Amino acid sequence: MSKSVEVTTRGTSVVENLVAAPILRTLAAYFTEAGYELYLVGGSVRDALLHRPTHDLDLATDAHPPVIKRLLAQARPDSRYDVGEKFGTIGATFGEWVVEVTTYRSEEYAFASRKPAVTFGTSLEEDLSRRDFTINAIAQEPATGGMLDPFHGLQDLQRGLIRAVGDPAERFREDPLRMLRAVRFAAELGFRIDPTTRAALELQAGALEHVSTERIAAEMTRLLVADQPALGLEALCDTGLAAYVMPELLPLRSTGQDGRHKDVFGHTLKVVENVPATPILRWAALLHDIGKPRTKTIQDGKVHFFRHEMVGARMARKILRRLRFDRDSSERIQRLVAEHLRPNLYTPEWTDGAVRRFLRETEGITDDLFALSRADITSYRRSRVEAGVARVNHLEARCRELQAQEDVAKLQSPLDGNDLMTMFDRGPGPWIKPIKDYLLELVIDGELAQDDRKSAVKLAQNFANQNPEVFGE
Ligand code: ATP
Ligand code: MG
Repeated sequence: MSKSVEVTTRGTSVVENLVAAPILRTLAAYFTEAGYELYLVGGSVRDALLHRPTHDLDLATDAHPPVIKRLLAQARPDSRYDVGEKFGTIGATFGEWVVEVTTYRSEEYAFASRKPAVTFGTSLEEDLSRRDFTINAIAQEPATGGMLDPFHGLQDLQRGLIRAVGDPAERFREDPLRMLRAVRFAAELGFRIDPTTRAALELQAGALEHVSTERIAAEMTRLLVADQPALGLEALCDTGLAAYVMPELLPLRSTGQDGRHKDVFGHTLKVVENVPATPILRWAALLHDIGKPRTKTIQDGKVHFFRHEMVGARMARKILRRLRFDRDSSERIQRLVAEHLRPNLYTPEWTDGAVRRFLRETEGITDDLFALSRADITSYRRSRVEAGVARVNHLEARCRELQAQEDVAKLQSPLDGNDLMTMFDRGPGPWIKPIKDYLLELVIDGELAQDDRKSAVKLAQNFANQNPEVFGE
């Protein structure tokens, strides 16, 4: 390749990142020997350049799928899978590395198409010109580390810019999902969207309507679990995409609330960033106050959102159904929305019974609920935040204490009365209790497992031998 030059970004050569994957050199050797090209492309080059940890190796080649399969097999992978042989992608794992090799693509719909076959391209340049953003259209030669960067993606990486390859309007027309990907990459990388690309995106936002719900939902989840979800959510609303992804978000912006944040949206963004980055928690955070715009009332100059959590849970259900969420995730998110106020209502006066009721009613989501409640305290006053977090922590501590007690209460001797009667060939009588108590003590002390009947028989026998008085003899 003529443009092979050694490039450094943010001070470090990419090549050194690749040393971590000797499998890359092995594969490159096999492909070269067989007369084919092999390049590291797309997300893996981008992430290596940004020093983002990755275990994915995206590779592009002029070899067709049957050949890719054969060459991958030669390298003895731990497992092999077809990502979509029809689409020209074959995957394999080598230890910690997930390798996906794709035949060069040529046609513009290759990434979005549901057609049974894509048109294969003949050159790397052609393949790169079909990719969405310049930062995703950089290739690297594994053997030499030489870079191929026809769209100046390296420069955009350095500037922190998301810019479409070629004409953005055309790119978005071909596959409108790319608009949502742009916003998601902004959230993941903390990048800005290039003004020309952004202008096209704002003009064409409505085309998102033609994208399948599943692809939209998957992108949204990735946006939410990104490092800077607020950046992505702001862009989602500012560009007009939100109207097609989740119109329910828009009224959050114009719904003011007392004190802390000027609107519900600002508060929501904070909560999303505060919770740990799991899909369930991030979605629950996004939706936790979704019912506020519909329930807002003002009484005596004070803002109220009566029962917004219940209205919100119902709205969450509708939204998640529309996005075709699986039932289990959807139910967890709805329950989190419905219960999100509860831990913050806790006071030390709660009886053990009240804490137990809380535990029963939040079964399966209790820990997530604590995380959401802690995140939901976004006051600017530090003392308030600390008091709020302490309150949730106290409830959590009491829950753990009760659970531990209950677990202890459930402990049993591995042998019950019937077992002992059979074992000692005796009828019922007061002799049973001391032996059972002895075994239970051992279980409580952790010296005997509850299900270790064999040891229990031996121990019971020894105990009886040493304490014949239990039989009244
Ligand atoms: P990540 O894996 O973090 O999502 P990625 O960039 O690797 O990031 P993938 O969806 O794995 O994203 O796609 C791999 C590469 O394929 C991208 O870097 C990009 O070059 C190209 N690509 C993926 N989807 C599209 C699309 N819809 N339009 C154009 N190119 C795409
Ligand atoms: Mg990828």
